[in-house]
Amino acid sequence: MNKFSWYDAKSIEDAVEQATSTIAEEVYEAGGEGSVFKSGGIDVWDLVKEGLLSPRRIINVKTIPGLDQIEFDQKDGLKIGANVTLTDIENNSDVAMHFGALQSAVAHAATPQLRNSSTLAGNLAQRTRCWYFRSIDHQCLRKGGSECFARDRRGGENENHAILNNGSCVSLHSSSVATALLAYNASIHISNAKGKEEVIPIEDFFVSPAADVATENILKPGDLITKIHVPTPKSNTKSSYIKQGARESYDWSLGDVAVVAQMSGNQCEEICIALGAAAPTPIRIYRAEKMLLGKLLSAENAQLAAEIAMEGARPLTLNGYKIPLFESIIKSALLEIT
Ligand SMILES: Cc1cc2nc3c(=O)[nH]c(=O)nc-3n(C[C@H](O)[C@H](O)[C@H](O)COP(=O)(O)OP(=O)(O)OC[C@H]3O[C@@H](n4cnc5c(N)ncnc54)[C@H](O)[C@@H]3O)c2cc1C
Repeated sequence: MNKFSWYDAKSIEDAVEQATSTIAEEVYEAGGEGSVFKSGGIDVWDLVKEGLLSPRRIINVKTIPGLDQIEFDQKDGLKIGANVTLTDIENNSDVAMHFGALQSAVAHAATPQLRNSSTLAGNLAQRTRCWYFRSIDHQCLRKGGSECFARDRRGGENENHAILNNGSCVSLHSSSVATALLAYNASIHISNAKGKEEVIPIEDFFVSPAADVATENILKPGDLITKIHVPTPKSNTKSSYIKQGARESYDWSLGDVAVVAQMSGNQCEEICIALGAAAPTPIRIYRAEKMLLGKLLSAENAQLAAEIAMEGARPLTLNGYKIPLFESIIKSALLEIT
């Protein structure tokens, strides 16, 4: 492990200023330099121990006052501070009352101990857990290499990897919480080095490998997530969330789905269906959503939507099982809200 200095940020402005006044870039080779934000530290310390991140400076943003609050107002919606832990989201009564799929997604992430430390901003900005990316011995596409070992190598171990949008790097984003936030049309508030605050729809926050394989989100050095905003669902909205992992706890998602729908009886008036661990970024399945508009959520229509969702799937050598897995959880999540 390289030597690094430690700085406890005092405010949002202080954190951004400190990050941009040093060479603020993550460097994926030992001996590199740069500064990096740390909130819960779960992923930052893993990356440092794995030799993939060698910061010259750690900026602890957990010390910034006020970023650990959850506020809810019927008109303004839900505001979750960047440093709120997954446990605090899980236990919040407003989240439980109005954002059931989000509460379920958070409650199924990682383990109770990890959720006690993990913050929402850190969760969204964590790096992929693709084992080739995490191995210092594999110079994969994401680390500037010329091949995706999971996809291109004979015998590549790709059982967990993407079945949709998988023409480049086939790693998955590791946040299953993002799946629910996407279904709720959440947006992310980011303070940047120019002293501005940007508000980015969560769908535009994640960057696909086809667009830029070197990064997984739009954050630039010095960009600090300050809060996540989730609009209040309209009346008669129902939601559901299902995550399938290899184990019930201590594991990332093999496939997860969040559904948020405005219903009139059993008829679907508006619907968002988001998938995690299907593609390199969390995705909406717009064609299936469109097919369901104005329709009754019957078993037949739920099955049809699930099949439409998987139409473009191109499984790799070892992950064909994900197609029936996703068909099954999409159908179940749709029928859960009836
Ligand atoms: C065994 C295991 C299983 C897990 N399973 C799941 C799962 O099923 N679902 C799931 O969603 N997650 C899962 N996780 C992820 C975990 O819950 C954490 O959310 C995640 O590792 C990072 O959160 P953190 O707060 O510790 O972030 P950190 O490690 O502190 O930071 C992670 C990244 O975010 C950046 N960052 C932190 N705060 C900010 C900010 N305010 N602005 C800009 N950038 C910031 C850091 O620079 C770093 O790049 C799992 C983790 C482990 C170890």
